[in-house]
Amino acid sequence: MRFPDLVPQLKAALPELRGRLTANQPLADITWFRVGGPAQVFYAPADADDLAYFRAGIPTDLQVIVIGLGSNLLVRDGGVPGVVIRLGRGFSQVAIEPGHRIRCGTAVPDVKLARAAADAGISGLAFYRGIPGSVGGALRMNGGAHGRETKDVLVEARAVDPQGRQHALSLADMDFTYRHCGIPADWTFTEAVFQGMPGEPAEILQQMSEVAEYREANQPIKDRTGGSTFKNPPGDSAWKLIDAAGCRGLRVGGAKVSELHCNFLINDGNATAEDIERLGETVRARVRQTSGVVLQWEIVRIGLARDGKLTGEALAEMTVG
Ligand SMILES: Cc1cc2nc3c(=O)[nH]c(=O)nc-3n(C[C@H](O)[C@H](O)[C@H](O)COP(=O)(O)OP(=O)(O)OC[C@H]3O[C@@H](n4cnc5c(N)ncnc54)[C@H](O)[C@@H]3O)c2cc1C
Repeated sequence: MRFPDLVPQLKAALPELRGRLTANQPLADITWFRVGGPAQVFYAPADADDLAYFRAGIPTDLQVIVIGLGSNLLVRDGGVPGVVIRLGRGFSQVAIEPGHRIRCGTAVPDVKLARAAADAGISGLAFYRGIPGSVGGALRMNGGAHGRETKDVLVEARAVDPQGRQHALSLADMDFTYRHCGIPADWTFTEAVFQGMPGEPAEILQQMSEVAEYREANQPIKDRTGGSTFKNPPGDSAWKLIDAAGCRGLRVGGAKVSELHCNFLINDGNATAEDIERLGETVRARVRQTSGVVLQWEIVRIGLARDGKLTGEALAEMTVG
C-alpha cells in the first residue's frame, strides 16, 4: 500500500521548514498493536515554532493527525492519508520548577515524567508509572489510573492549532471529562505543566514499584495491545459487561480478547487491523445483545481500511450471529 508522494510539493511550499518529512512511513512499528499501513506524509517537527510554520503553510484540505507513543491507537490496514505528526526530540525536555511543579514537552513518556517527579521529591504523579503513553497522549485522553487523572495534576498546557497559532491553555480550557479532552482534535499539544506535592523520593519510588507490580499481575503489558478498548460506561465496568457477554478469549483471525483482562484486545502474532477492529465490534455487539449497553471505543482508530473493506459497526454485522 503506497500513497502518492506529497513530500516534494510540501518542501517546495515550506522552504524554512526544519523538521523531517517522510513519504509513506510505516506506522506499525511505532504503535503497540504493531499493525496498520503507512502515513502518506510523516512529519517530525523540530520544535513548536517549526510545527506552527508547518500548520500555517500547508493546504487547508490536507488531513492532519498527531500520534504519540501509539499505546491507545489502532492504525487501519490501508494507512493514513494526509499528514501524521509525531513529536520527538524538540518536545522531550523536562524541567523542575518552584512550588513542586514540572514543565515538560509532550513527547516525554509518562513513565519518565513519573520518574523525574520522584527524583525531585514531587509526589502525586506516581500513577503515570502505569500509563505507557506520552504526555501529549495523556492530555488528549485525560489519561488516568489508580484513582487519579491528568485533570487532577495539570496546571496548564500549550498547543498549536491548525492555523499555526500557539495557545496557552488553562486547566479549565482543557474541559477534561473521563478519557476526554474538550480541545479540538486537530490541535497539537506541545508542552504541559504539572502540579505535585512535597514527597520523599524513596516513598514515591516505592509507590511506583507497586503500580508496576499491579500492572504486571493484572494487564497483558507484554503483549501487542492498545490498553483498555472501551470506556467504562457510567456506574459500570466495561470488562464485567464483556465477561458477562462470554467474550473472554474470543478470537477473530489473529486478534484475541485477553484472558487476563478482557477489556484488552491482543494481536496474537499475525493480526491485521481489520481483525482487531472486527473483534472489537463483535464484542460491542455481543455486549449490546446481552446487557443493552452500547460500549464506546476508548482506543482511537485512524486511517483507511484496505481496499473495499469495511470499518466500524458494519464489520460486526457480518460476524455476529
Ligand atoms: C498496556 C497498556 C496499559 C494502559 N493503561 C492505561 C491506564 O491505566 N490509563 C489510561 O488512561 N490509559 C492507559 N492506556 C492507554 C494509553 O497508554 C493512554 O491513553 C495514553 O495516554 C496514550 O498516549 P500515547 O502517547 O500512546 O497516544 P497515542 O495512542 O499515540 O494517541 C492517542 C490519542 O492521543 C492523541 N495525541 C497523542 N499525542 C498528542 C499530542 N501531542 N497532541 C494532541 N493529541 C495527541 C492522538 O491523536 C490520539 O487521539 C494503556 C495502554 C496500554 C497499551
